Amino acid sequence: MKYYAQPLSKLIGQLTKLPGIGTKTAQRLAFYILKMDQESANDLADSILDVQKNLIYCSVCHNLTQDDPCPICSDLKRDQTTICVIEKVEDIIAMEKTGEYKGLYHVLHGSISPMDGVGPDDIEIKGLLSRIQSSDEDIEEIILASDPNVEGEATAMYISKLLKPFDVKVTRIAHGLPVGGDLEYADEVTLSKALEGRREI
Ligand SMILES: [Zn+2]
Repeated sequence: MKYYAQPLSKLIGQLTKLPGIGTKTAQRLAFYILKMDQESANDLADSILDVQKNLIYCSVCHNLTQDDPCPICSDLKRDQTTICVIEKVEDIIAMEKTGEYKGLYHVLHGSISPMDGVGPDDIEIKGLLSRIQSSDEDIEEIILASDPNVEGEATAMYISKLLKPFDVKVTRIAHGLPVGGDLEYADEVTLSKALEGRREI
C-alpha cells in the first residue's frame, strides 16, 4: 500500500480486515469514502462507533439490543412457552422474516466444535438451562435451530441430552435445509418449511 498517502492506505488496511473484503474491494470502498460528502462520511463513522458503544447483549436471550431485556423478550404478545435456540444473532432476523415463528429465542453465540477448541462451556448453553428452570411461564417446547452442519448437529444433540431431565418437548428443524448450510442464508420459504417439519429428538 506504499503508493497511497498514509491516511488512505490506513483506511484500505482497516477495510481489508473485514470479512469478505479483499484488497481490490477495500481500495474501491476507500476511494468511494474519500469522495463522500462530509455529512455522509460522519454518519458512516458515527454508525460504526454507535454499534460498538450502544449495543449490549440481552441478559435473557443474548440477542443484541439497546435495552435489556431485548424487545423480543419483553414482548408479552409472543408465545412465552417456546424457545428457539440459534447459533447467532443474524439467525433471529432470518427466523423473524419467515413470519411463522412467534416464540422466544436463545442465542448460543457459536456451536460446539472440538476442532476449533470450542466446548459446551464456551457457548451460552448454561443460560438456556437456567432459563428453563427459572422461567415464570412453563416452557413447553425448545426448538433446536442450530445450523444444519456437523457442528450444529453436534450442538443440537448435546443440548437435547441435557434437556432430557426437563419436562419439555425438544424438536430439531431439519426438513428443507441443505446439509452443510448456514441458517442465516436460507431463504424464507426453505426456513418456514424447516420450521414446519421440525421433529422431536
Ligand atoms: Zn432477549
